[in-house]
Amino acid sequence: MELDGLGILLGVKSPWVLKNIDVQHHTQVIDVYIEYERGSKFECPHCGELCKVHDGNVKRIRHLDLFDYRCYLNIKVPRISCSKDGVKVVHSTPWDRKGNHYSLKFEALIIRLYKEMSASAISRELGEPDNNLWRVFNYWVDKDIIQKFDFKQIKRVCVDETAVKRGHNYISIFTDLDTGKVIFVTEGRKKEVFELFYGWLWDNGGFPGNIELFSMDMSVSYQAGQKEYFSAAEVVFDRFHIKKGMNKALNLVRIEEVKRVESLKKSKYIWLKSEAKLTENQAGRLEQYLSDSTLNTTIAYQIKNKFDQLWNVQSYAIEPMIEKWIQEATSACLKPINTFIKTIRNHYNGIVKSIKTGITNAVSEGLNSVMQLARSRARGYRNPDNFIKMVYYLGNA
Ligand SMILES: [Zn+2]
Repeated sequence: MELDGLGILLGVKSPWVLKNIDVQHHTQVIDVYIEYERGSKFECPHCGELCKVHDGNVKRIRHLDLFDYRCYLNIKVPRISCSKDGVKVVHSTPWDRKGNHYSLKFEALIIRLYKEMSASAISRELGEPDNNLWRVFNYWVDKDIIQKFDFKQIKRVCVDETAVKRGHNYISIFTDLDTGKVIFVTEGRKKEVFELFYGWLWDNGGFPGNIELFSMDMSVSYQAGQKEYFSAAEVVFDRFHIKKGMNKALNLVRIEEVKRVESLKKSKYIWLKSEAKLTENQAGRLEQYLSDSTLNTTIAYQIKNKFDQLWNVQSYAIEPMIEKWIQEATSACLKPINTFIKTIRNHYNGIVKSIKTGITNAVSEGLNSVMQLARSRARGYRNPDNFIKMVYYLGNA
């Protein structure tokens, strides 16, 4: 093979020279040998002084395949002799970084593949152990995503919890409400996650005192964490979570009534789906139910509809309208509804703010698809840290 041509492709230039290529046809491996020119000087990794080379050690790293051949670069990495610092290994060459098995281009390929397939599939495809792949992945997510955040700019934050595997291993995800970027991910969903976020901001050049607002669900632990670590921030409860509470109450009323009213069986989604999304058959059944105003479920359904309408009310009328709704809802004397009203009372300010500001966790709604993708991409992720890095990666893609 023509050395000069390959040298250009590999970007070999002074003080580096392409010394040799060794093609092993039986194993389909190509070894490329790169050295530095005699008399070259390199910067001391400690003080930056240009220093003479003391000696060199060959490092063999995997590079992008060449046709059907696996390609390795054998780079003679110099050790310089510094008058101040003594003999030191030069940290990186134009093709690699310190202490890794792969060239930078090969690492970039790994990172691209993480977007398209699971870690175990990449491992099979490239024939590299997944431990190594995860190490590369974690390094670049740290360097290219996390370290590039400007945490000083963050003012409004969404917090969401989600399961790593369905039903267990919860993580909390903090998203910048203004950019939609995933800024902090940690295991757990207790109040401690706020302590960790607080520390994370400090460690990364942000100021916890800058955070003006949290949008979150109504979980007791989140509220406790916010109060303890971000007491100056406002809280807005997420619309989706508030409405979920109302829907749950409606469904509980139905479940109670099914015991007496046979026809309510298997009608859960008729009540919970938005009317526009019902099939013709379902819409017919709903009409039938609603014509019977003695049904508790019908009463609860109307309460729920009025509740939903609170989000369309003009700002100045919100609080009176909530009061009016509470009065009407209370007069229905339905236990699950009363429990929900208690929730409203206990979270009053955050709910009013939700309606007034229209702020929701919707920016993190894309998070559902991110999480789904993360679960499949991170198959065989080995430890929660890898999974968490995957959420940063996909959540900022
Ligand atoms: Zn030095």
